[in-house]
Amino acid sequence: MPELPEVETVRRTLEQYIQGRTIQKVSVYYEKILANQTPKEFAEKIAQQTIEHMNRKGKWLIFELTDYDLVSHLRMEGKYFLKTPEEERSRHEHVVFTLDDGRELRYHDTRKFGRMYLFPKGKSFQEQPLSEVGPEPWQATVEYLKEKLKSRKIPIKTVLLDQSVLSGIGNIYADEILFQAKIHPLSLASQLTKKDCQKILTSSQQILEEAISMGGTTIRSYESEKGVHGRFQQNLLVHNQENCTICKHSIERIFIAGRSTYFCKKCQKMK
Ligand SMILES: [Zn+2]
Repeated sequence: MPELPEVETVRRTLEQYIQGRTIQKVSVYYEKILANQTPKEFAEKIAQQTIEHMNRKGKWLIFELTDYDLVSHLRMEGKYFLKTPEEERSRHEHVVFTLDDGRELRYHDTRKFGRMYLFPKGKSFQEQPLSEVGPEPWQATVEYLKEKLKSRKIPIKTVLLDQSVLSGIGNIYADEILFQAKIHPLSLASQLTKKDCQKILTSSQQILEEAISMGGTTIRSYESEKGVHGRFQQNLLVHNQENCTICKHSIERIFIAGRSTYFCKKCQKMK
């Protein structure tokens, strides 16, 4: 599943290639991708709308159109392709936007889990699903995080994956963040101090920023035939690793809330 840095890379790439373009028409080949519109409504509203900006909240992409916000979640396998109309449509391309420069923006999703919502312009942040998306680590304060954690008697790893507390942290980065903050992933969230909360926010910001900057190389080497999925080689220190880069002890792998979790039991302390 793409995480915040990957989605930010997709946002920046799309901004570079489609900002300012007008959508002439849209064809929907798999209705369920549209969460709050029929294909007919969607097509009628989107026609002749200009893509003014590409925005993002957590892992949601927001196409800011002339009169609407188009909100898109890639879920497991979603990606965007820019193709010419002559290129044959793959059976995994479910929504095709025809742009005024003759190209097509195609939403490709082998698993079909991705979803699109359409809202009147500027309203998307007040409506579900975005209204339930918490602040990103850059916007959250220590006081906010401490308040959110104080009654949660569940592992901190689980809480970090809860997008209503902090948005944009997925399974891989949650492990990296707790490793850098030296906090054991099974520590109960309610036991964390303000200082721990500060460490989590600082680590989250640093790790996500580093990943976003690595994504920049993906933008420069954008290959249209592979689509815009934002994946890149990640510099991981604990997730899916064998030995701790700090103490050389072997990395433990456990399951927390059904998710594979990696940590160093020497470097990460139980709170
Ligand atoms: Zn270690």
